[in-house]
Amino acid sequence: MSASEAELLAEVPDGLLIGGSWRPAGTGARFAVHDPATGARIKQIADADVADGRAALDAACDAFPAWAATPPRARAEILRRAFELVRERAEDIALLMTIEMGKPLAEARGEVAYGGEFLRWFSEEASRVTGRYGNTPENSGRMIITKHPVGPCYLITPWNFPLAMATRKIAPALAAGCTVVIKPSELTPLTTLFLAEILREAELPAGVVNVVTTTSAGPVSAAIITDPRLRKLSFTGSTPVGKLLLAQAADNVLRTSMELGGNAPFLVFDDADLDRAVDGAMAAKFRNVGQACTAANRFIVHRDVVDEFTRRVTDRVRTFTMGRGTEDGVTIGPLIDDRAVRKADDLVGDAVHRGATLHIGGTAVAGPGSFFPATVLGDVPAQSRILHEEIFGPVLAIVPFHDEDEALRIANATEYGLVSYVYTENLARAQRMIERLETGMTGLNVGVVSNAAAPFGGWKHSGLGREGGIEGIEEYLQTKYTMTPDPFG
Ligand code: NAD
Repeated sequence: MSASEAELLAEVPDGLLIGGSWRPAGTGARFAVHDPATGARIKQIADADVADGRAALDAACDAFPAWAATPPRARAEILRRAFELVRERAEDIALLMTIEMGKPLAEARGEVAYGGEFLRWFSEEASRVTGRYGNTPENSGRMIITKHPVGPCYLITPWNFPLAMATRKIAPALAAGCTVVIKPSELTPLTTLFLAEILREAELPAGVVNVVTTTSAGPVSAAIITDPRLRKLSFTGSTPVGKLLLAQAADNVLRTSMELGGNAPFLVFDDADLDRAVDGAMAAKFRNVGQACTAANRFIVHRDVVDEFTRRVTDRVRTFTMGRGTEDGVTIGPLIDDRAVRKADDLVGDAVHRGATLHIGGTAVAGPGSFFPATVLGDVPAQSRILHEEIFGPVLAIVPFHDEDEALRIANATEYGLVSYVYTENLARAQRMIERLETGMTGLNVGVVSNAAAPFGGWKHSGLGREGGIEGIEEYLQTKYTMTPDPFG
């Protein structure tokens, strides 16, 4: 680790943020965070237990009435200041993400731009929450419809986009007038701790954002979720954990937002612009080393162009450089841990065993660090596990198809429905695909769909609710309708 990295890590708070101050866990317990590129321990931080979780919720509940009553413009200005501070500290935040999560620095910089944007977007939305006033159809009275913050929220985030997943939840919650407890992934908690300090610098009042880091995600979360004072749960993570939390949330009839797993199809038709399709495939597959819920999982390619497409993506993969994300020229960083490497290895082994062709890559790299090379598989048989499970690694699996109906049938044959990608130059075909693909988002001739101004979210088992866009703030608002008499009656 370089001296500048050590200096940056020393600046990251190592406690729990509760009621506006940093404190150790009640038991004094701590846990270690590791660099996935080297396996080295990089920092020890507080390991919260159930009592700490409850204390964080106490603080969020205490702060709620005053924050909800704070003028939207004042809330907006704090978010805007936080956006400016994120922009000022962009290089540090990017480096921190690269150290704790592994993504190459260039990608980490991209995430800072994307993640910071939620602070700006929702600072702009805070003042735009409105209601309605209207007549009843019978002239019997007047209806007043108003919006109110839902109350204290619990936010759980994954490790793959440490900044953006946090700002995508915190910013709309705060803009709406809600207070929060956030629990980042135990694998990448440092970015959230750093962000929390930035929010303090932006003069966010004590208790509006509380941060709990823990290796006991299950018990700490269950205690918060089943506490009758909580009003909202927003979770981003895997579908199995999301289903478990939905069941826990049922008892208190919590508002929930669930951003869950994906199994994105990437369709390339014979009329596609192949240059664009290959560029899009690189972004949709290898960004974050394939560790994105939006990562293309199944490349469904027309039989007439599949050889050409396979050759071109394999040639591009040959130019990749694998290594620690801080090094110049690295395009493929490590996976998050050794379990992820074993999973990629198993999925590739299963597909090859069933008859898939291995074009490049395919074998895990010995440590230190958790590395798996960019891999291209052709003619992947339908039963292969890799077509049915979320890969979360740099493996590009190709399935040829004959006609549009077959492509669509393959694409929709999954319980997931987050995002799809379609490459075609035929307008009518593009429209048919948009209407028939069972996904919450579609990239038409593009390989990246995320944007703070867009409603991000999935259909089917990929989730409930939307993050970003004008829809994003609605997740943190509840509606009240008031009936009043006809003033002329
Ligand atoms: P994960 O489900 O293992 O963990 C997500 C979070 O849940 C972490 O903070 C973890 O500590 C916590 N958690 C784990 N078990 C828990 C429990 N029993 N109770 C409460 N909290 C618990 O997911 P991950 O491995 O961190 O992230 C990868 C997954 O996230 C992938 O499936 C990916 O598709 C999904 N994801 C979805 C989106 C989206 O917007 N749809 C975005 C990013 C990631």
